[in-house]
Amino acid sequence: MDIWYSEHHTDHVKLSIKVDRQLYSNQSDFQRIDVFETPEFGRVLTLDGFLMQTEKDEFIYHEMITHIPMAVHPNPRHVLVIGGGDGGAVRELCRYDSIEQIDLVEIDPLVVEVCKTYFPTTACSFDDPRLRLYHQDGLRFVRNCHNQYDLIIVDSTDPFGPGEGLFTKEFYGNCYKALKEDGIMVNQHESPFYKGDAMAMKRAHARIVKSFSISRVYQAHIPTYPSGHWLFGFASKRYHPTKDLLSEAWNDKKLETKYYNTNLHKGAFYLPNYVETMLREGEFDE
Ligand code: SAM
Repeated sequence: MDIWYSEHHTDHVKLSIKVDRQLYSNQSDFQRIDVFETPEFGRVLTLDGFLMQTEKDEFIYHEMITHIPMAVHPNPRHVLVIGGGDGGAVRELCRYDSIEQIDLVEIDPLVVEVCKTYFPTTACSFDDPRLRLYHQDGLRFVRNCHNQYDLIIVDSTDPFGPGEGLFTKEFYGNCYKALKEDGIMVNQHESPFYKGDAMAMKRAHARIVKSFSISRVYQAHIPTYPSGHWLFGFASKRYHPTKDLLSEAWNDKKLETKYYNTNLHKGAFYLPNYVETMLREGEFDE
């Protein structure tokens, strides 16, 4: 008998992944957490039934949400990661000797425990001495931060459930305050293709531009995310994501990556016309 994990991307489209066996299933105080073993994507993590990461393609998302801002900011020492309980963003950040402190604010301690157990190649840097782990709501945590961080990475779930507050004007305004005068915020920015994701993307962009004078969007191809066309937000107080790209300095670090490189960095910010149009429209919403 075949067993399949399915995620509905719309009412009429779903992604189904064949499952060898289910490794874990539990309800935390915040969400349902499941882990599947699959022949195509290795282990798969879902939260409330939505796919979060797979062993096979997590590198794309985690490299793109970290190396893009790290190749622009000249001296990022203090970093805040909100969400990110799977540890993938922290793993990539810990590869930079220049970083002195990483604050990870993950609302659900059980996500960290489950990822340490079942995703050891992603959740592999929780013992780094630079890491401080907080199990709090990122929306509340950032209210009390002022002029502290060079980089904020919002590695959240989607804009419903526990992640809803991380897509609000209040949250983005508080992230702006929490950043130093040349700080950068990047965020998981949904997708332009299916209506629901596109509405969330437009809404997030409309709210971010209200706080950040430099607000751009970049893209990556993530096979297991809805439509495969995934977006990230790049909001900045000073540095432009491509004009201020420090290619030579980044390449001199000789960091091995499977997806990111400084040429792709530039290309990622050149979006399809329909996406640019949606972003412009979004800027006039709200
Ligand atoms: N990489 C995945 C993606 O792109 O969808 C998600 C990364 S991670 C699994 C998302 C994390 O955000 C989850 O562990 C979830 O518990 C956490 N989270 C959701 N809402 C949060 C909040 N308000 N504060 C802090 N963490 C939150």
